Amino acid sequence: MRRSRAFIPTSKEVPNDATLPSHIFLSRAGFISQVGAGLYNYMPLAKKVIKKIEHIINEEMQNAGAQEVELSFVTPADLWAESARIEKFGKELLRFRDRKENLFVLGPTHEEMMVNLVRNRVNSYKNLPLNLYQIKTKFRDEARPRFGLMRGREFIMKDGYSFHSSYKDLDREFDAMEAAYKKILTRLGLDFRVVEADSGAIGGSGSKELMVLADSGEDTIAVCSKCEYGANIEAAKRSKRGTIPEAPEAEFNKFLTPDTKTIDDLAQFFKVDPYYTVKCVAKRVIYEDVSEIVLFFVRGCDNLQEAKAINATEALDIVDVTEEELAEIGLVPGFIGPLDQDKAKHVIDSDLKNAANMICGANEKEYHFVGVDLGVISEVAYFADIAEVNEGDICPHCDGTLSFTKGIEVGHIFKLGTVYSEPLKAEFLDENGKAQPFIMGTYGMGVSRLVAAVIEQHHDENGCKWTKATAPYMVNIMVSNVKDEAQVALGEELYAKLQDANVEVMLDDRKERFGFKMKDAELIGFPYTVIIGKELAGGNVEIYERMSTQKTEVPADAVYEKLMEMM
Ligand code: ATP
Ligand code: MG
Repeated sequence: MRRSRAFIPTSKEVPNDATLPSHIFLSRAGFISQVGAGLYNYMPLAKKVIKKIEHIINEEMQNAGAQEVELSFVTPADLWAESARIEKFGKELLRFRDRKENLFVLGPTHEEMMVNLVRNRVNSYKNLPLNLYQIKTKFRDEARPRFGLMRGREFIMKDGYSFHSSYKDLDREFDAMEAAYKKILTRLGLDFRVVEADSGAIGGSGSKELMVLADSGEDTIAVCSKCEYGANIEAAKRSKRGTIPEAPEAEFNKFLTPDTKTIDDLAQFFKVDPYYTVKCVAKRVIYEDVSEIVLFFVRGCDNLQEAKAINATEALDIVDVTEEELAEIGLVPGFIGPLDQDKAKHVIDSDLKNAANMICGANEKEYHFVGVDLGVISEVAYFADIAEVNEGDICPHCDGTLSFTKGIEVGHIFKLGTVYSEPLKAEFLDENGKAQPFIMGTYGMGVSRLVAAVIEQHHDENGCKWTKATAPYMVNIMVSNVKDEAQVALGEELYAKLQDANVEVMLDDRKERFGFKMKDAELIGFPYTVIIGKELAGGNVEIYERMSTQKTEVPADAVYEKLMEMM
């Protein structure tokens, strides 16, 4: 492509709401243009990157035996009623009626559609397993679309669904998909980690996320210093503490504790480690039709993990409550303890089961209990893992310690079991001729999010740094002075030669100043820029490598070979 003919509207302007490098550079370098909240046009450069990612995904999916399909974007709302997800998905589902008043939904994911495609078409265990996938636009009316391609409302996803006659076969396919996803991300040139994920209300261990490591990632992941263990903080587990602080031994007693509304105040007051205090986090828990205040209790040294709290209560969402709301039901903020379960439902962290020598609120203003043995309520109270792991906690699998890092969720693989096949009555006949619901897995990958993730991981203050597998063009030939015939001649010759060798190459033939063209090349992020400039008089040109930002001088007559060697 000749740069003078290319539609690459680069600019110095940073979009108003842009904070992330990928959002800023993809906009400035002319890859994407915003048309509304979470809505983007892909311009030629972005389109090329997307196609490359899709190509790698397609190859690895074919290698793994998955078959490509493409399902309708507009999906009948009836299907969403069948699975009861129409309420659960809530406002993220964009609904509309056609001219005949039929209700439709723009597909945010395609479990129902895929089950509907397969049911009554695959009838026997003999035709299983089956893995079908598509690469398709999705629409989710996200509450807070942001960060450019990272969290759009309209975005591209690879979504795959597998159908099995046994859980054992699902496990095999799940492992095969994990391996395929790892290959895809490795080929894309990304540094990533596979982590255990929150499986929501469905539960089980079969949920993993593929996280591209980047400081700007929205997800916090806990990783072990010794073993392979990694988990989204929403799902991370830990071993029991190794070294336990010295216990404050005291008889059970009620104590006047003025000005001790926070855990810190309380720990100071009694000169104890916060480990021996009980923290109460009150939340309003939202269910389908109702909501209620629930009190969550964790150790004073821990924090409540909201995703775990949602799972423990099987809620749709949990939100904050005010002190007034608490006062209304007779609770005393700052002094709430777990011993009086009449006023609100309690959920107590498993680590507090049978905990002794504890200090907790006495459900009375200015008072706390000391010497509390939670064994007294261990039979009647509801315990669940609701505490967030802390950095320095011990790995659940070995004696390593956990530390936090940030990741971008680019893929999610999940063992669904019969969650969709059962309500949608999608069944096959097993060896004994008995009808059984399909056992399913689902495998998603964010294609457009990956475009942004590459840049989040690879950029500097001047712009994008595409990996070799994702670069829209591998080589940019920059003719510094288009009035210099020798420079132009070499540029044209190299351009033709590289094209013949099927290298994707851009020839910057514009009548612009060197500095301007160089800035542009850095912003766009071509892996290699050949600078044909003044040094050509002495027989040399320069190769600028974007990833390392190093410049190498090479003889003009060897530049082609040198490039082929570097790529
Ligand atoms: P998130 O937690 O980031 O909202 P999710 O868990 O809702 O994502 P999934 O339903 O697991 O997303 O979808 C599969 C993949 O699609 C995700 O791993 C992610 O890469 C991508 N994806 C999801 N939502 C968006 C979005 N709004 N914009 C771009 N990509 C998205
Ligand atoms: Mg997910």
